[in-house]
Amino acid sequence: MVGRQGRYVTGAVLVVLLMVLATPWLGYARTVEAGRDYLLVGEATNEPTPHRACSPQMLSGDRQQVEVQAPPGGWSGEPQALDVFNVFAGEVRMQHGDREICGNMHDARTRDSRFRAGIGMVAVPKAGSYEPFVVSWQTPLKARWVPTLRLGAPSPVQQNDTARLLVRAACIAVAIALALSALMAYLTTRDRSFLMYIGATLVLVLWQSILGGLSGYPEPWLAVGERGAWWLLSLTAATQALVLPALWRLNGGDRVLPRSRLAQQVVLWGLMGLAVLVPWLGWDQLAVVALVLQGCFVAGCLLSLGMGLWARLRGDVWALAGLAALTPMLVLVLADATSARWLFEYRVEALQLAVTWLLMMAAYALNLRLGRLRQQRDEMRQLAETDMLTGLANRRAGLQQLAHHVDRVQRDGSLLVIGFLDIDLFKDINDRHGHEVGDQVLVAVAQALRAAVRNQDEVVRMGGEEFLLLLPGMPREVATERLEGLRQRITEICQDLQVPGLEVTASIGLAQWRPGEDDLAGLLRRADHAMYVAKRNGRNRVFDGETVDPLLPA
Ligand code: GH3
Ligand code: MG
Ligand code: MG
Repeated sequence: MVGRQGRYVTGAVLVVLLMVLATPWLGYARTVEAGRDYLLVGEATNEPTPHRACSPQMLSGDRQQVEVQAPPGGWSGEPQALDVFNVFAGEVRMQHGDREICGNMHDARTRDSRFRAGIGMVAVPKAGSYEPFVVSWQTPLKARWVPTLRLGAPSPVQQNDTARLLVRAACIAVAIALALSALMAYLTTRDRSFLMYIGATLVLVLWQSILGGLSGYPEPWLAVGERGAWWLLSLTAATQALVLPALWRLNGGDRVLPRSRLAQQVVLWGLMGLAVLVPWLGWDQLAVVALVLQGCFVAGCLLSLGMGLWARLRGDVWALAGLAALTPMLVLVLADATSARWLFEYRVEALQLAVTWLLMMAAYALNLRLGRLRQQRDEMRQLAETDMLTGLANRRAGLQQLAHHVDRVQRDGSLLVIGFLDIDLFKDINDRHGHEVGDQVLVAVAQALRAAVRNQDEVVRMGGEEFLLLLPGMPREVATERLEGLRQRITEICQDLQVPGLEVTASIGLAQWRPGEDDLAGLLRRADHAMYVAKRNGRNRVFDGETVDPLLPA
């Protein structure tokens, strides 16, 4: 089955490689004519630049307006760029002389290809004139979410615009990469917490796209437009529904206060309900929701901070990831409270970076938790498969290993010899020297066996004073010699225990896999029987079960 799949995969890889090798040749032949060393794409046009008229109903609402005045002495005649950021709803209108541009966050911005993160225009005012730029926008939902206007020479204004776009797109790209990596982790572990993480990350990606206006680029791919404010608030509520409980949990809320789970559920479903409700609300109600959400966010951050500090004081190392995740959020809350200039200027970028940082910390915490679970599972498996006294594989693990080897010899026809070892008169050793010495003998024998076999061989304690040796790929004659040496080594090593009068011997039965006619039970039975023959022939010897059995009638 695996072999067939492997062939399919190899075939697919070869086909893809061939396609990759063929592509440049085909592509070159069709697109570049002989003798030309450039490629011209597109054609000259006489069509006018598409211009979208400012929509009258959007311009009639509750608006704010500013006139950007010329410098003292009038304009110099050099081109001026004006770029407006942080307007989340409605249209921005810019006017200079008889030039007018309207745009919002979601319509690929005013058709001016030089501005992507903001709504911008470039105008060349007549030298010496005092004609101001007139900019107006819809009154923002939140008094503190004021627009930022950047005025200056076109090049630096455009650079700033592009840098903002790059930061916004990079944050979304990182979030998508984290979601993909979580998907890989889910496919390998089937741990449902990764699915939750992916879901939350996708909501945050949508929220960031609306917030940063990438939902309108290069073409609007979300039904946004004039309903931008509703989308933004609804997704903000959904984002907080996921982020606030995550912050609380990252800060140890679940571990320190297990009863807070109910409160987390209330916050989660309450905010999710609000997110669903928002599209049906009117503009005035939106302002109230915005205020409620802001209060929720600040309260959630402060509560998580308290919890993180408390958990840390109680020695919870995991809370460190939570405090680290929280730090940028707290910086934002503090910057807003103190009206920090950089926050007003770069609000979108700051929010996106803080959320991306939170996603990274959550991924880190998730992977740490998964690592711990894996470690616990490995320890449990180790305990379940190991014999406590000798540290060898126990009967269960030994039979699994044997089944594995039997599978292999059935597939590839290689050799397999097993040896069944039983310490002679062990009951007497216990009786005469005590159970503790008996245990020491078992440990010494286990060590001698482990030290004497090759890396690929297995030594199993089958129970009591019985051991099983698996010697894959070893010819029978070599195995007989090896087991003979082992038998002698056991006696020697037990003398090193320096217990007066202690003499330890063992009987070993050998069996070899018989291709075509054998099975696991039969192989084990023959080895056990061979050991029994060794005992009946006077103990302290190796008997090869594949030779004639002296106990059977001739
Ligand atoms: P034979 O040569 O025929 O194998 O004789 P024997 O005495 O070795 O065989 P028997 O199966 O009668 O005795 C095995 C003894 O091993 C009985 C049991 O008390 C002892 N034994 C089993 N497990 C342990 C253990 O973990 N520690 C110790 N000290 N003794 C054990
Ligand atoms: Mg026994
Ligand atoms: Mg015995």
